[in-house]
Amino acid sequence: MPGFEVFGEEERKHVQDVLDSGILMRYGFDGMRNGHYKAQEFEQKFAKLMGAEFCQMTSSGTSALTVALASAGIGAGDEVIIPTFTFVATFESIIALGAVPVLCDIDDTLCLNPEAVKQKITQNTRVIMPVHMCGSMADLNPLKTICEENNLILLEDACQAIGGTYNGKQLGTIGDLGCFSFDFVKTITCGEGGAVVTNSRSYAENADKYQDHGHDHVGNDRGAETHPFLGYNYRISELHAAVGLGQLEKFEDVLKKQKQYYTILREELRSIPEVTFRRVPQDGKESHAFLNFFLPDEDTTRKAHKAISNAGVDACFYWFDNNWHYYKKWEHLTEQKSLGRLPSDVRANLQDFKTTDFSASDAWMSRTISSLIKVGWTEDEMKHRAQQLKQAILSVL
Ligand SMILES: *Cc1c(COP(=O)(O)O)cnc(C)c1O
Repeated sequence: MPGFEVFGEEERKHVQDVLDSGILMRYGFDGMRNGHYKAQEFEQKFAKLMGAEFCQMTSSGTSALTVALASAGIGAGDEVIIPTFTFVATFESIIALGAVPVLCDIDDTLCLNPEAVKQKITQNTRVIMPVHMCGSMADLNPLKTICEENNLILLEDACQAIGGTYNGKQLGTIGDLGCFSFDFVKTITCGEGGAVVTNSRSYAENADKYQDHGHDHVGNDRGAETHPFLGYNYRISELHAAVGLGQLEKFEDVLKKQKQYYTILREELRSIPEVTFRRVPQDGKESHAFLNFFLPDEDTTRKAHKAISNAGVDACFYWFDNNWHYYKKWEHLTEQKSLGRLPSDVRANLQDFKTTDFSASDAWMSRTISSLIKVGWTEDEMKHRAQQLKQAILSVL
């Protein structure tokens, strides 16, 4: 997955443009910037690449989620349905707005289960947020139908699945809004950065203002701009956007290599009858950023994961025990630990995690191992790695 493995001349050239002009800010200073508007250029290229009407860069994937929610008018007390398997950024972005994250079970796609989502809808639900974890997606057609029937917004967190598709469309462009992260370990990196894509002009206009203190961006005099509503500073810098532009130039090559390496690993593991693979919805194509597979039960999976680490194979994850990605280790959320008082709607309405049943999620996650696919490996290293993984798994069966 990580784009930092392929840094080179492309990034250097764009960064040098910015340093030469000295203008590190995306707005203003028009006479001094030698015609360079790196953030704007990235937004135009990325929207085109994704097949979306609009793109708004932000300072991170987390802020992209907050900006996307805010641009759709989500605020205090609104409920947002999210999966139990995601990254902590998902609920952070919701709580930042005073809205309430509602955790919901996943299925064998390792993403939101549409049937479980239906059970979580209340009169306060406003958004369903599937998170395309580890390069693949939820059953998006049923989720879209649920949104249409209940007048809800579909917001895709595509931070880990850039380049994957569903029904021939890029992940992130199927719902009303989609979010991407360009943090240091993502497929395309800016160092830190993110983006919101949408086909809605009003969401795009809201996002543009919200991520820059509510400035209306009308005219060339920043001092004269008005503020139609409150906003924050979630801007991307020109330096970060410049790195992203360099990365975009090799995006296709990175995707190709991910697919090639993913296939090598999958072919090797396919010969083990006890190994099954995560379900990819019928019309979906993975980004191949990870290969995810199941073993028959938790005990075998734990043993296999241990054997894999003992064999010195890195970048293989047992997310069930992970502090960042699975609800079981989010005690800051589940026990409502906060530096200040949490928004009152969150305090009053957060699920009781002692009594809410997520055994369906546990059943899948306890059997899941994920291997990252790194484009920095050589083909021989990938083949060797696939062999080692297979041997390690066989050793515990
Ligand atoms: C990385 C990530 C984010 C947040 O992105 P940052 O740029 O690190 O803030 C959000 N959701 C998912 C699923 C992620 O993997």
